[in-house]
Amino acid sequence: MSQFSFAVGKRLAEGSTSEALGRTGTIRTPHGDIQTPAFIPVGTKATVKSVLPGSMKELGAQALLANAYHLYLQPGPEIVDEAGGLGSFMNWPGPTFTDSGGFQVLSLGVGFKKVIAMNSETFRSDEVIAPKKERLAHVDNDGVTFKSHLDGSMHRFTPEVSMQIQHQLGADIMFAFDECTTLHNTRKYQESSLERTRLWAQRCLIEHHRLTTERTHRPYQALFGVLQGAQYEDLRRKGAQDLSAMKMAVDKTEVEFDGFGLGGALDKEKLGTIISWLAEELPDNKPRHLLGIGEPDDLFVGVENGADTFDCVAPSRQARTSAVFTVNGRVNISNAPYRRAFSPIDENCDCYTCANYTSAYINHLFRAKEMVASTLATIHNERFIVRLVDQMRAAIEKGDFFEFKKDFLGRFYSSDLKRALS
Ligand SMILES: [Zn+2]
Repeated sequence: MSQFSFAVGKRLAEGSTSEALGRTGTIRTPHGDIQTPAFIPVGTKATVKSVLPGSMKELGAQALLANAYHLYLQPGPEIVDEAGGLGSFMNWPGPTFTDSGGFQVLSLGVGFKKVIAMNSETFRSDEVIAPKKERLAHVDNDGVTFKSHLDGSMHRFTPEVSMQIQHQLGADIMFAFDECTTLHNTRKYQESSLERTRLWAQRCLIEHHRLTTERTHRPYQALFGVLQGAQYEDLRRKGAQDLSAMKMAVDKTEVEFDGFGLGGALDKEKLGTIISWLAEELPDNKPRHLLGIGEPDDLFVGVENGADTFDCVAPSRQARTSAVFTVNGRVNISNAPYRRAFSPIDENCDCYTCANYTSAYINHLFRAKEMVASTLATIHNERFIVRLVDQMRAAIEKGDFFEFKKDFLGRFYSSDLKRALS
């Protein structure tokens, strides 16, 4: 038995005139259930930076996501395997996810985070290299050769290698190895890349089945196919059709994906449209994970258009730079006005930090460069985003999702709006 399942609960469109594709649901894994929609905090190297797993549980995280690329380089997947898998290794008893490493080997390689800010109308190239950044990855039809960001050593990921690493890491939900393109690649390149990702998906399914059969001492690990196609409707729809219809016959067994990861280059303005294309093509009875998205407005768009789970480093990364969420928007807690703010970061927040500490104290910790500053800010930010998506789920159940969305976004982005109007 696979020990993995997904059941749709209530639909956003139920009892309304809306055609929104959003839904609630339950993902069942060997390490517990995930009520969706849900935000999955990221613990890149098998730890959410500065926060203990017990605190992550307490703040409502239902699952954690770690990165195959980082754990492959350090400490090595065989060590995580010997420890009994990712959850045992890091003392997190709940469900876990690992990404395939595809995004990391390519993004660290071409450095497109820096380039992506350039004008996409004037800048189109398949050889995108950030200024002063050496190209660290090379893609061919069989896989990706890349240089470690730790020590410069050369490594190679293929679909089979990614599957082997992820099976050793032992997360409940894994992702197929894909090529993540950027919005700057040419249309022709996107076409050939999409075909490469399709062929890699087939190889992932075959290797996944082989490893599942071989490693019967371990709980079942679900495999999600990753959808690419950048901003092109025909490519996005084709990618989704190909992967949802994909069935590989191995040893008289038909192997298919357990769910889907919505990945790749996503223009913020087109996010909802792209997710809705995918949701229309994908089977209704399998979960959909939106990779690397965690901004409040993007989460609403994702949930509304049928994404079930989300992950993003933003809440913890921003917390460490003293940027914290409040219902009235993001603020920098280390700024002067908070020196004498003897109240919680957010009066409405139910997290440990807000229950026990003032903004003034956290302001002091950041200014004094004390480590606990990151811990308290991260607990608050992760709770804020986990709870926000929980509230979206509750709003779908209750039938007032759109009212909640309007109310939340109106308040959260009101200061941006005021700034823009002034
Ligand atoms: Zn809080």
